[in-house]
Amino acid sequence: MSPPAAGSLQGGRSSLGGRQAEGTAWGHTASGGPAQRVADLRREIDEHNVRYYVHDEPSVSDADYDALMRELQALEAEHPELLTSDSPTQRVGAAPLVEFGSVRHAVPMLSLGNAFEPGEVEAFDRRVSDTLRGAGLLDSDARVAYFCELKLDGLAINLRYENGELVQAATRGDGQEGEDVTANIRTLRAIPLRLRGAPPRVLEVRGEVLMNRADFERLNQAQATRGEKIFVNPRNAAAGSLRQLDPRITANRPLRFFAYGWGEIRGVPGDAAAPAQAGDASLPRDTHGGMLQWLAGFGVPVNVKHNRQVLGAAGLLDFYAQVGGLRPGLPYDIDGVVYKVDALAAQKVLGFVARAPRFAVAHKFPAEEAATQLLGIEVQVGRTGAITPVARLAPVFVGGVTVTNATLHNEDEIRRKDVRVGDTVIVRRAGDVIPEVVGPVLEKRVDDLPPFAMPTACPVCGSAIEKLEDEAIARCTGGLFCAAQRKQTLLHAAGRKALDIEGLGEKLVDQLVDTGRIKSLADLYSLQAEELAALDRMGQKSAENLVRALDQARTPTLGRLLFALGIRHVGETTARDTARHFGSLEAILDADEEALLVVPDVGPVVAGSIRRFFAEPHNREVVAQLRAQGVEPVAEAEPQGASLTGKTFVLTGTMPTWSRDDATRHILAAGGKVSGSVSKKTAYVVAGEEAGSKLAKAQELGVAILDEDGLKALLGL
Ligand code: NAD
Repeated sequence: MSPPAAGSLQGGRSSLGGRQAEGTAWGHTASGGPAQRVADLRREIDEHNVRYYVHDEPSVSDADYDALMRELQALEAEHPELLTSDSPTQRVGAAPLVEFGSVRHAVPMLSLGNAFEPGEVEAFDRRVSDTLRGAGLLDSDARVAYFCELKLDGLAINLRYENGELVQAATRGDGQEGEDVTANIRTLRAIPLRLRGAPPRVLEVRGEVLMNRADFERLNQAQATRGEKIFVNPRNAAAGSLRQLDPRITANRPLRFFAYGWGEIRGVPGDAAAPAQAGDASLPRDTHGGMLQWLAGFGVPVNVKHNRQVLGAAGLLDFYAQVGGLRPGLPYDIDGVVYKVDALAAQKVLGFVARAPRFAVAHKFPAEEAATQLLGIEVQVGRTGAITPVARLAPVFVGGVTVTNATLHNEDEIRRKDVRVGDTVIVRRAGDVIPEVVGPVLEKRVDDLPPFAMPTACPVCGSAIEKLEDEAIARCTGGLFCAAQRKQTLLHAAGRKALDIEGLGEKLVDQLVDTGRIKSLADLYSLQAEELAALDRMGQKSAENLVRALDQARTPTLGRLLFALGIRHVGETTARDTARHFGSLEAILDADEEALLVVPDVGPVVAGSIRRFFAEPHNREVVAQLRAQGVEPVAEAEPQGASLTGKTFVLTGTMPTWSRDDATRHILAAGGKVSGSVSKKTAYVVAGEEAGSKLAKAQELGVAILDEDGLKALLGL
């Protein structure tokens, strides 16, 4: 990979990826040698620090920033003569914004060293173990106990309590001096203004202010409607919300807080006045975990759910893997996990380097966000004609894979984010979620990029693209005339939950539709092995297998066939319920809306959609063709559990989720009857909350009594 030009990030960045630039491989080749490169890197990093820490407006992704930082660290390690105390590798954050009053931290607020690979974690554990053994704090065969926490992706804050009362709150700033954000912090419900119990005279609690992802989405929606600033991620939203000059704005932002440490502590009950620091005998507990528990006792939020003590490097890596699995399901962003030597006496022995403690390390996850170039926006046509704009991107390594496409959801979303072809954009890929474009980096926009305009004609069939007033999605009006919709319809019909035609994949459908051989679902059944074998990527054997699969698909259950037809709003369950209720395709074909509404969970929208589908002569034609091809659906199996035919139910009281009408519809659809009074003939009484005399009567007569869950189980739901 060629290096980015010295002093400029343009061009090379998008292909840098998260970890690829970690070494010095391209550092020395930059013009002017290592000294020049070091100077350039420092200037760039300082600039990014100001954007990120002071203005909450980063212009590069964290992964790209980390790559620059690592390059600088490596260069400084190789050329110690170039190391100066003002290097960003030696300092934390950036100087506070002058508009806020500044606060000098009684105990500096540091950063954390980081590790990306298991090998780096093992090396950390080795260093710690060696030092502790040398100091006689660890037996030769013992493993170090670590306290593991989530690395919350927000911003660090120091809360100073005096005599139990919150008197000051400050950001980390440059580690020595932070911004006074007391008035803003006071508006956070998560932070106690007064501590519970008997706290020491001075207690500084340190932790992270953050915003949940769902709150972040809502905030951005609201910001967009008001035409205000859109935040690139929850971290920036949290930082931007807290660092407001007007606390009323902070008050309206949904910020959370978790404590993970402490600063100055004075006057621990029973102790003298000296400031207590890690390892001081005057601290009330002797482990990090114990201290957090102690803090929690004063009503301070601590992330107890996820914090855990483990032993040795294996324990650390295990924790990392487990949290990695939890990460997509957490309500907030984390960018890694943090390991801290648990024993405070051991922490004291290990001490600090310039900007971080030696007793802790942040083990980072692969970045979920990265910056790259938006090369184009194409639109894709789905089965129901839905038009989805897709971003074509310069390849970028994010969330552990190389991404070249990302969804842009719909036209409104593109407008809201104001993404334009040619922009540098932030791409996000979290867990297995489809990558998405978060937004443009506006500082990087070259002038005069035109806003995106949705095409007015379908790129596949040329039919008009239409957008209904109340829908976010634009649709191609071509219906099955549109090859894209036809292809998607066939793929849907071949799917596992529909006709389950193994071997009918995308490539094959493309060929069959593009050559005009297949025009409708029914045409599929006329395919012969010889013609299939002649197609691209098809051999005699796979052709025969496909014909066999098609043959088997001549007798699907009625529900599967109905689902395969791809009627809008008719999912797998609705199709099955409808099939069970009507028993034959003919009956469904002729059902009016009223008849359809009797099917459980079918409301006016679904009923209307089914009726309109079968009112369309073209669709009735497809059904006739299917029959001509020998397709004979078989009756849908009865729900598992007892058949309810002829059984009488009595409903009483209020059920947790179903109304009486819901329950009645389900019982009728399964062949049962519903009656108003309990007698010996009653098969079941379904009793909800505040059930009255009917329940008593049932008990008296020995009639079986069910609750809502019991009824659902009986119905096989
Ligand atoms: P850091 O974020 O890597 O780690 C230290 C911070 O982690 C602490 O200050 C604290 O806020 C936080 N943290 C979360 N959970 C914690 C826990 N359980 N225990 C202790 N601390 C916890 O370091 P940093 O110095 O704040 O920032 C460096 C990072 O910020 C970089 O790795 C980069 O990703 C990002 N950054 C990006 C840009 C940019 O332009 N994109 C610029 C500057 C920094």
